[in-house]
Parts: sequence; structure tokens; C-alpha cells
Amino acid sequence: MTSISPFPGGTILGYPRIGRRRELKKAVEAFWAGKISADQLETAAAELRDATRARLLGLGLGAADSSIPGDFSFYDQVLDAAVTVGAVPARFERLVKDDGTIDLAGYFTIARGEGDDVPAEMTKWFDSNYHYLVPEIAPETPFHLASDRLVREFEEALAAGVVTRPVLVGPLTFLLLAKAGVGAPEGYLPFDRLDDLVPVYEQLLARLSAAGADWVQLDEPALVSEAVDVPRERVLAAVSAVYSRLTSAAERPQIFVAAPYGSLDDALPVLLGTGVEAIGLDLVRGSVPQLDGDAAAAAARTVLVGGVVDGHNIWRGDLGAALSTLESLRELSPRVSASTSTSLFHVPHDVHDETLLGEQLTSWLAFADQKVQQVATLARGLAEGAAAIEEEVAAASAALDDRRRATGVHDGSVRERAAALTAADFSRGDYGVRLAAQSAALDLPLLPTTTIGSFPQTGDIRTSRAAFTKGEITEAEYTDYLKAEIARVIALQEQIGLDVIVHGEPERNDMVQYFAENLDGFAVTQNGWVQSYGSRCTRPSILWGDVSRPSPITVEWSSYAQSLTEKPVKGMLTGPVTILAWSFVRDDQPLRDTANQVALALRDEIADLEAAGISIIQVDEPALRELLPLKKKDHADYLDWSVGSFRLATSGVRDETQIHTHLCYSEFGVVIDAIDRLDADVTSIEAARSKMEVVPDIQRSGFGRGIGPGVYDIHSPRVPSVAEVTELIGTALGSIPVRQVWVNPDCGLKTRGYAETVESLSNVLAATRAVRETL
Ligand code: GLN
Ligand code: ZN
Repeated sequence: MTSISPFPGGTILGYPRIGRRRELKKAVEAFWAGKISADQLETAAAELRDATRARLLGLGLGAADSSIPGDFSFYDQVLDAAVTVGAVPARFERLVKDDGTIDLAGYFTIARGEGDDVPAEMTKWFDSNYHYLVPEIAPETPFHLASDRLVREFEEALAAGVVTRPVLVGPLTFLLLAKAGVGAPEGYLPFDRLDDLVPVYEQLLARLSAAGADWVQLDEPALVSEAVDVPRERVLAAVSAVYSRLTSAAERPQIFVAAPYGSLDDALPVLLGTGVEAIGLDLVRGSVPQLDGDAAAAAARTVLVGGVVDGHNIWRGDLGAALSTLESLRELSPRVSASTSTSLFHVPHDVHDETLLGEQLTSWLAFADQKVQQVATLARGLAEGAAAIEEEVAAASAALDDRRRATGVHDGSVRERAAALTAADFSRGDYGVRLAAQSAALDLPLLPTTTIGSFPQTGDIRTSRAAFTKGEITEAEYTDYLKAEIARVIALQEQIGLDVIVHGEPERNDMVQYFAENLDGFAVTQNGWVQSYGSRCTRPSILWGDVSRPSPITVEWSSYAQSLTEKPVKGMLTGPVTILAWSFVRDDQPLRDTANQVALALRDEIADLEAAGISIIQVDEPALRELLPLKKKDHADYLDWSVGSFRLATSGVRDETQIHTHLCYSEFGVVIDAIDRLDADVTSIEAARSKMEVVPDIQRSGFGRGIGPGVYDIHSPRVPSVAEVTELIGTALGSIPVRQVWVNPDCGLKTRGYAETVESLSNVLAATRAVRETL
């Protein structure tokens, strides 16, 4: 080891990379569009890194103590790790140059695909809303140090006078998140390749050390998760082997292993036994560990980095409680540092960038910049004693008190209604009775056809919405425009021959924000962008108070649509779990209570839709699977409240009203019980992309209600042929009784263009008619 500089007293695990004004997004997209060169993109990124360092210094992190993370990424940190170790999917081997490196264009090609070569698969990063690119690690995927970007970025900062702490996804997490490439032998796991991978990490650590890095941060969130397909004993043995090996290298920076998103549990003593110099604990999700024996002795020699500032949410929190937690951590080790629980890339940059939230709400919030200041304050408290930060602690407590007492945070009528709920409010009664009532009322053919809700959001729709937001057109003009759009979409569906019609959702900017804007208890931001994946950002709403519905939201649109057609128009709502999952949610009461409040607001909306003559209502819950906790012990409680809130929203209707739900993914098997317990009359899921892989799971589960496995993959502009769709329907019918099967696309059509949509839906209808003839 080259250096013995102490770990900084305060740090953050990471910072938003996208830029205060989404500078990185703009630069990257300009590069993709061929408007700027790779050099210009590099320059823009270097400027952004420079601005970030300056900002972090200004907020109280140090220039010389490795407290500023070197965690920049052009697209995704997991892709960065893959490219660093040269692990390129076989179909992209052509992107590797003679000297073994991959340039920026190649890097983006892996992320975005090219021609027939599909991009790396994207999936959720632990239980956050961020998506990473899944590494493909086949038995023969070669590993070598293919990129020195991390070293160059360290040197760039050093030249600017800042000693940063390079950040990289750790080797265990990298392989635990990877999937085997196509054609891997049965039973093979990417994790089997650990011994081949670790030497590359050793080389990189040596390079960083030679460049002058005192500390490196290896992110190992997979160690807190039980949702991995390697047995725990094997993971723990690998923790011991890999980190003992990395720490025994002669030439290396000191190693800080960060474990965000939950508690390390049994991995902590093992990690402590390896001699890594610092360990980051998520003390928002987990608590100060109990240690004894060897583990306690090892902890006393290790820097314990207490993640007490919530990196995953936007609340200002209780600074005094955070300091006490750090103080109890200090009973385990004399060297304790203040930090965030996760990287701050889950939250927007700066609450002071928001001018419309109002002073009071603003005073309750902390975005990334405010959280950096909190860390700096806590570091000072640790170093100088609680009295040194008395003022800041008092201000945070006052804000918290104010929040507790504020009108809107507690709404008496909302609370009374929730308190009066009984089991009956969560139950619709016998499905057989409902089915008979619905069959009589709706008179649908076998294999009814429908879509998932949205029709293409054309440039025209967006222009019109922007004009309305800017006040360039009146509300009446905008409404007329939307009605014309709805009429057009209805006529089109009738012409194509769909059985259950949708209004197309042209009035919605986003399936969650739209409801947030129309419910009490929510606020929306102007600049609160967070990275969802690559250059894509979302602006989550803030659910801060008790939720209620001041007036009907969708009823006017749905009834207008229904007035234009004899066929049933499906009402379209977003479910409580998804609204929670894609917003920043209050942290002062159980999620169950918040979900039930949202559910009651939706229940009223559903009652109004029903009263207005809407006979089918879909409540989308694509986030049901993604909020599933990382620890198995938490599953039952989660499924209980999440399923409960859906049932509360949907159980107020008559037997003849048909409730649909839509789930985006095809991992049906994982949550099959939960889906069954939703008790929706019809469930649509993604299935075309996986060629109906999910159908046997459905059959095995004995799922008895309506099911629409997607027959048209809406993720690409490709038009499925009649033959293809016919075959997919045939596959579904091979396992599921025909009376249960619905025919629909995988998901909404909002990202598609009209030409391919019309052609694809026409093929879906032709295929359905052909199959019906054979029945
Ligand atoms: N009803 C929504 C739509 O069609 C569903 C979107 C989703 O599942 N993410 O756009
Ligand atoms: Zn979907």
C-alpha cells in the first residue's frame, strides 16, 4: 500500500452525473445525433466534472482528502465496469480495437444497439428507479484491463488540485448482476468467472495507486440483496477470498467497500475479516450492527462509514438523530465517517433550483446539494462535538416539527376515512359471479382484442401541450385539440376492429405525474430531474401530504371517448403502488398508509367512471414487481400492503364492471401469487419479447381469470407479421383455456409512430380472426 492518508470525516457515495441543467444528457444526445464530435463530448464531460468538483468543494467536501467521489459516467456505471474489464458481449466484439480498447462510440453502441445487434439488456438497479445495463459474461468472455478512464479522470482532478476517490462497481456485484451470454452451458453462472476477473481489478488498483489515489471505492450493493441467484454461502466465501486477495496486493490504494440499499447482515463480519480499510453501511435502511468476537476486534481497526443521510429520498431528515447514530457507530470503531446511505444520483441536484414549491415545502427538503452540506455538518459534529453543529441540528429539527404540524400533512377527513376501512373494502366478492355478470353486460367475442392504453404521443401532441403550459393557447383550445385527437384515435380503433377501445391518453405527460398534478398531497418540480437510464431522466413528483382527490380527473376524457363509440371504452388509471414507486414519497408514515390514501382517491375516480357509464377500467401496476424488497423477510408485508392498496382502489365496483390491470414485465413467476391476489378480472403482461416464455408459469399457477399475454413487442418499430402473431396466440392457447385469453400488445404505444402502430395492430386483428376461425 502506497499511502496511509486517513479516510475523510465526511463523504458521499456518489453525486448526480447528469448536470444541474441536464448538460450531460444534452451533450451525449448531440453526440449521438452527430452534432458534436467525440472530442467535443469529452470536453463537455470534463467541464461538467470540473463544475461538480467546484460545487462539492463549495458545499464543504475537501480538496485533498479523497472525500469527493470520482464517479462520473457517460451512460451507466455497470456498463463502465464492463468496458473497464473488457467484457463486451460477443455480438459487439467488432467494437474492440486492436489495442483492446473501446472508444466512446463503441461504448454507446453496446448501450443502444446497432442494426440487428440488440443493445445490452436493461434492468432495475436494486430497488431504485435507475436502470443499469446487464453485463453478459459467457464462459469464454475474455477479461483484460481495457480502459484507463478511471485513472485519467483521477489525474484530471489531481491536475485541478483535487484528490478524488475513484468509484467502481465491485467485482462481486459486477458478476452477481451479470447474465450468462447465449449458449452458456446448463448450470453455468457468470459468478463462476470471479477468479478470472479479480486480476483485472488488481491491475486497475495498481494503476490508480501509481497515479496517486489514496482511496478507491468499490460498490458492492449486491451483498445486501437476497435477490441474486448465487447461494449465500458461496457469496460469503467469495467476499472473503476476493477482498483478502485485493487487500494483499502490494501496490494499491486503501479500499473502501460501500454497501448501499440495505444491511450487510452476515456479510459484514466476513468483510471485516478481509482487512479492507473502510466499509460503508447503509444506516437508513439498516441499523448500527451488533458485533462481537473477531468481528468486533476487526471493526475497531476499520473505518466505519455511516450512511446516515438518505441518498434515496428528498427529505431533509433529522440531523440530530443522524449524529446520534454516528456516535453509536463510534462505539464499534474509533474511526467513523459521515456519509450518504446511497449515491445521491437518485435525487435531483438542488432544492434551491425550485421556485414553485413554496417556502415551507422547500424548507422540509434536501436534494443532493443539501445532503452534501448535511454530510459536511455531521463530519464537523463528529470531529468537534455535538455543540459545534447545534445550530444546524436545531434548524433541521425545527423544519421537521413544522412538517409534522403542517396543514395538508395531516388531513382529518382523509385519516378518518382510512381508519374506518374494514376487510369488506378490500374485497370484490366471488369471481364466478362477476364473470357471469360481465359476460352478459359486455358481450365480447372469444379472444377479445384491446390495447394497453396510450396511442403514439406525436410531436403534435407535445407541441400543443407545451403551448398550453406556456399560455400560448387557452385551456378551451387545448381541450378541443385533445378531443379531436381522442376522436381520431377512436375512429382508428374502430376501423382496425379492436373490441375494447381506449381513449389513447393524449392528455398525459406521464402516467404518474399526471395523477400527481391532479391530486392533493403532491407537488411537482421544475428542475428535479433524476437519471432513469442513460440520457433518460424523469422528474418524480413529491408526495408530501395526505392524499385526496379534489375533483374527478379522467372522467371527462373517458366519457367523451365513450360517447363516440358503441364499443366499450376502457377507463385508464395508474395504480397506487406505481404512483408511490415513481414518486418521492413521504417518510413519516408507513408506505401502507400512504398507498391506501392514494387507493381511496382512485376508488372515488373509479366510482365516478362507473357512474359515467364506463364498464371496463384498467388500473396499471407496472411497478408492483420492482418495489419488491431486497430481503425475503420483508416480502410478505410488502405484498400484503401493495396488493391491499390495489384491491382497495378497485373493490368498490359492481360485479358487471370489469377491472383490468397491466404489468409491464414478463417475470410473472416471481410475483404470481401477488398477481393472483390482485383479483383483477383481466391482467395484461409483456410476453411477445420473450416469445410467450411466461405462459407455462401461468398455467402451472392455476391462474383462472382473464389474461392478455402481449403478442406485439412495442419496444421497437418492427411490425410483427400475421403469421408471427398467430403463432404467439397459438402458444398461449396451448396452455391457457381460450375463454381466459385476451389479445393485446406488450405495453402502451406512446413511444411508437403511427405507421407501424396501425400496421401492427391490423396484423394482430387479422391473426386473431384467423385463430377464432379455428376454434
Ligand atoms: N396505460 C399505460 C400506457 O399504455 C401503461 C404504461 C405502462 O405500463 N408503463 O401507456
Ligand atoms: Zn407496460
